[in-house]
Amino acid sequence: MDRKSIIIVGGGLAGLSAGCYARMNGYDVQIFEHAAIPGGVCTSWKTNDYLIDGCIHWLLGHRPGNSVYTIYKDLGIVDANRFIDAKSYINFVDARTGNRFELTADYEKVKDRLIAISPEDKSTIEGFLQACRVMAELQVPTGESSKSVLDKLAGLWQKGRMLKYFFKYNLPLNEYVKRIKNRWLRDIIVNLFLQDMTTLFSMLMLGYLFNNQLGMVEGGSIRFVLPIEKKFKKLGGKIAYNATVEKILVENDAAAGVKLAGGPVHKSDIVISAADLHSTLFDMLGGKYTGGRFEHMFKNWKMFSPLLLVSFGVRGDIKRYPPVNVFFLKEPFKIGNTETDRLLVRDYSYDKVMNPGDKTVIQAEIETEYDYWMGLRKNEEIYYREKDNAARKVLDKLEEFYPGIKAKVEMIDVATPYTFLRYTRNYMGAFEGWLMTGETIKMPVPKTLDGLKNFYLAGQWVEPGGGVPTAVASGRRVVKKICYDDKKDFVTQD
Ligand SMILES: Cc1cc2nc3c(=O)[nH]c(=O)nc-3n(C[C@H](O)[C@H](O)[C@H](O)COP(=O)(O)OP(=O)(O)OC[C@H]3O[C@@H](n4cnc5c(N)ncnc54)[C@H](O)[C@@H]3O)c2cc1C
Repeated sequence: MDRKSIIIVGGGLAGLSAGCYARMNGYDVQIFEHAAIPGGVCTSWKTNDYLIDGCIHWLLGHRPGNSVYTIYKDLGIVDANRFIDAKSYINFVDARTGNRFELTADYEKVKDRLIAISPEDKSTIEGFLQACRVMAELQVPTGESSKSVLDKLAGLWQKGRMLKYFFKYNLPLNEYVKRIKNRWLRDIIVNLFLQDMTTLFSMLMLGYLFNNQLGMVEGGSIRFVLPIEKKFKKLGGKIAYNATVEKILVENDAAAGVKLAGGPVHKSDIVISAADLHSTLFDMLGGKYTGGRFEHMFKNWKMFSPLLLVSFGVRGDIKRYPPVNVFFLKEPFKIGNTETDRLLVRDYSYDKVMNPGDKTVIQAEIETEYDYWMGLRKNEEIYYREKDNAARKVLDKLEEFYPGIKAKVEMIDVATPYTFLRYTRNYMGAFEGWLMTGETIKMPVPKTLDGLKNFYLAGQWVEPGGGVPTAVASGRRVVKKICYDDKKDFVTQD
């Protein structure tokens, strides 16, 4: 008998993508989404007439020629959007020394400038940049296998070539930089991404940048999401918002539907969870199908640190910076128990669709502690006071880089780990799931659970490193697997 109906828990990118592909393959699909809007952590929101973006600043594969671009096309994202090429990855500014370095898409220029910063590190720089080039050949896995024998051979050759780089550079950024002699160069490289992530990840990002495969979405992340929801509905899919799944129903060790908070029960032949993994395993399934592998992950794997996102709406002329910056501060400052000596700052002045007229948004992203903010939640008055205090501290620091900004700020918005939990339910505020580390890169997370039939997992929690392309590709792959299990050909046409 054909399996017909699928319930998807979560309408983030992975859930929406899975929904579209499941409809293309003839399944009846119902998505239940906890929040009031689609997109999960990939979102934008309005505060006092300013559009604040909470996600995409680096979009991999925004041009034809990359596997994931096909998915963006399938999901209606390409036709509905204007992508902007990222000409700059990060602009580094050091208030302690006056040093500046903008890492742009111009490979040769970047190489020359890095060598000029540190001639004694020339061979390390050349090796690093060469590896970026090689990593750029990696495609986001979409579940497609090579079609011809020649393609397969080319794939094997590519894998063999990659392997050399894989072994050499599969170590955390903060370990890798120990070989760099010059301090400023070390500061640049170690801040290319999170310091505990494998160096390979930063190399991939830079490789895509140099290949013109790194972009941004004009108008903000929500514009990336809404076309997928539209496509899903056009394909005949159903989505319910403010609908939190409390339990996944299990009959005879097979998923059979869901029970929503508040009581309603919905039956289906298949359930996909594209939601937070911890609550899926331990709450929705009551911890019954959690083998040693998952326990190992939750005990040993590192998650993305929770964030404080502090956004300022600014009116009038202020100094302009590239879209993404790392500002090294003269003096560190503390929020909660965490000391911060640098700020990752997004400057949205480049996007006039998001920020018309003389307005713009400047946003600082700071790693923070989950327990600190959850503790403050016990007293709302103190929680809001501490949010204000945090914003004030950040603004003081920004004044150093944007002289006069304080007088021009007319909107302040602070998102804490509690905000992420409240709107997206991501465990411990880990907004992007597991870090991609030496171990997680080698150890695929199972997409099904031992002993539980008709149940599948998708999304950032089963794809360490997370990210937009990975989430949409994960939605596609899970449906391909379901089709395979149902002995059906997988199709991608409407
Ligand atoms: C600040 C920030 C910046 C980022 N920048 C980038 C970037 O530049 N480039 C990039 O590629 N990636 C970026 N990412 C990461 C990327 O956005 C995510 O990895 C990706 O969107 C994850 O999608 P997902 O569908 O797997 O998960 P989620 O977005 O977490 O979606 C899961 C959904 O499930 C819902 N849900 C959870 N529990 C339940 C339940 N019980 N019942 C019903 N629904 C439930 C949630 O509400 C949520 O909507 C960024 C993320 C953040 C937060």
